[in-house]
This record gives sequence, structure tokens and C-alpha cells, in this order.
Amino acid sequence: MAESRKVAVIGAGASGLVTACELRREGHRVVVFEKSNQLGGLWVYNPRVETDLLSLDPNREIIHSSLYKSLRTNLLRQLMSFSDYSFDCAENVNRLNFPEHEEVLKVLNEFAKDFGINELIRFNTEVVRVAPVEFGGNRWVVESKSEELSSEEVFDSVVICNGHYTVDSTQSCKYSRRIFHHIDMKFDGMA
Ligand SMILES: Cc1cc2nc3c(=O)[nH]c(=O)nc-3n(C[C@H](O)[C@H](O)[C@H](O)COP(=O)(O)OP(=O)(O)OC[C@H]3O[C@@H](n4cnc5c(N)ncnc54)[C@H](O)[C@@H]3O)c2cc1C
Repeated sequence: MAESRKVAVIGAGASGLVTACELRREGHRVVVFEKSNQLGGLWVYNPRVETDLLSLDPNREIIHSSLYKSLRTNLLRQLMSFSDYSFDCAENVNRLNFPEHEEVLKVLNEFAKDFGINELIRFNTEVVRVAPVEFGGNRWVVESKSEELSSEEVFDSVVICNGHYTVDSTQSCKYSRRIFHHIDMKFDGMA
């Protein structure tokens, strides 16, 4: 087995959960930082939209999830599964071939529970800076903020799993009609 490293994983969405699980399986010491109060990332449906639909205001409140209410996966449930974890674990769901977003979130929660990932997660803790430790021999300082309290901790490695779909790119669109990004389309027929 490789040397055990202290690893920070940023984000407790699907990528962060699997990453944490595999790193721990390999004997590493893992801390998962999650800025929200629950795991699941994009799959946590939030009906609210951002105050600035074009995301021009840098001080706007960022809504992480871009799911709309009736969203179902665009992959078959068999393809949505992790390689050693069935998608059929969640209860009280419709078990559709292309699952509803509620089912995906339930599966992620079951996965985290079954593999003991919850205990690795620091909820409500946002990473605000990652930087190499000066003269620290390839280590990283991770600065995080939780309830206005900042703290710094040194890790051997950092894995960034913060998601890609929070910041839209409509600013670059040249179009005379009304524009908004799908991140702000939360209800069926809203256009
Ligand atoms: C509308 C839509 C539909 C999709 N449908 C499918 C589908 O059907 N099938 C499929 O396989 N994929 C689908 N995807 C792709 C989807 O991105 C992946 O399924 C998956 O959710 C990505 O997981 P992630 O962990 O990379 O990111 P996310 O789920 O976005 O999770 C990132 C996490 O990081 C946290 N975070 C961010 N920044 C920080 C920080 N600084 N400090 C601490 N925590 C932080 C966030 O709070 C969040 O919990 C879809 C994507 C979109 C946008």
C-alpha cells in the first residue's frame, strides 16, 4: 500500500463523495469540505433563482444547483451507477429508467451512509484559498471559512471537486432578445 497521505477534498457532490471513498479505501486520511449544509451538490434541488439572471453582479448570491423541477437524468439508471454500487438502493422512489433528480440525491445519500463518508465531511465550510506551503515540500495550505471563522490547515494533497455548472457564460452572448441561463430556469415552461 502507498504511504498514507492527508488529503483535502473540496466539495461533497457526486465527484467528491466517490473521490473520498476511493482515497480512504487506499488508506489515506480524508477531510471533505462542503460549503452547504448537505451533500449531493448539483442534485440538491433549489427552486430559487439568482437575483441577477445574467450573473453580471459579482456580489449576487450564488445558487449552486441548476436543476429544474421536473429534471430526469439523461443517462439510463444502469449507467448512472457507480461501478460497485447499485443505483437501486433508494426507497420510496419511482425507479424510472431515466431517474428523477430526487432519486439521484437519495442514492448519493445512501452511498455516503453505506461507505461512512458523512463522518469525513465538514458541512457549512467553504474553502476560500488553496496555496502551496512555502518551503513545505509539496504540501498545501487550505484556508476555509465556517460561520465567519477562518482557519488554515496543511494537507499533502488537494482534490478539487467543486462542480462546473454554477457560473454561467451568458456574458459572451451577443443576442438582442432576452437571455437567461438554464441555471435560472427552475420551473417547467418558464421561458
Ligand atoms: C442540468 C444538469 C443535468 C445533468 N444531468 C446529468 C445526468 O443525467 N447524468 C449524469 O451523470 N450527469 C448529469 N449532469 C452532470 C453533473 O454535473 C454530474 O452528474 C455531477 O452532479 C457533478 O458532480 P460534481 O461533484 O462534479 O459537482 P457538483 O454536484 O456541482 O458538486 C460540487 C460541490 O462542491 C461544493 N463546493 C463548491 N465550491 C466549494 C468550496 N469553495 N468549498 C466547499 N465546497 C464547495 C458545492 O456546494 C457542491 O456541493 C448534469 C448536469 C446539469 C447541469
